[in-house]
Amino acid sequence: MAITKVWIEEGCIVCNACEAECPEVFKVTDTSCNVNGSVREDGVDNENRDEQSPLSGSTGTDLEAAIEAAAAGCPVEVIKFEKA
Ligand code: SF4
Repeated sequence: MAITKVWIEEGCIVCNACEAECPEVFKVTDTSCNVNGSVREDGVDNENRDEQSPLSGSTGTDLEAAIEAAAAGCPVEVIKFEKA
């Protein structure tokens, strides 16, 4: 199993926990949190809520534990992901 896709639903409270846990994937902004374009197939820096771009390369395998920990640690549970 690997994580294929990560996105951020509405409601981020900009607490920085996810970036502290997994900075390769999450970048907190002034108003929300982005899924970094550097680990996405579409290369775009945003929440990936509408795009639903897959993770690129081996990111979803290499960082599976860190992404899951970030999602579990989000206080408002807006980090979502899919596995395949
Ligand atoms: S952990 Fe959740 S609430 Fe905190 S910055 Fe990340 S997405 Fe936003």
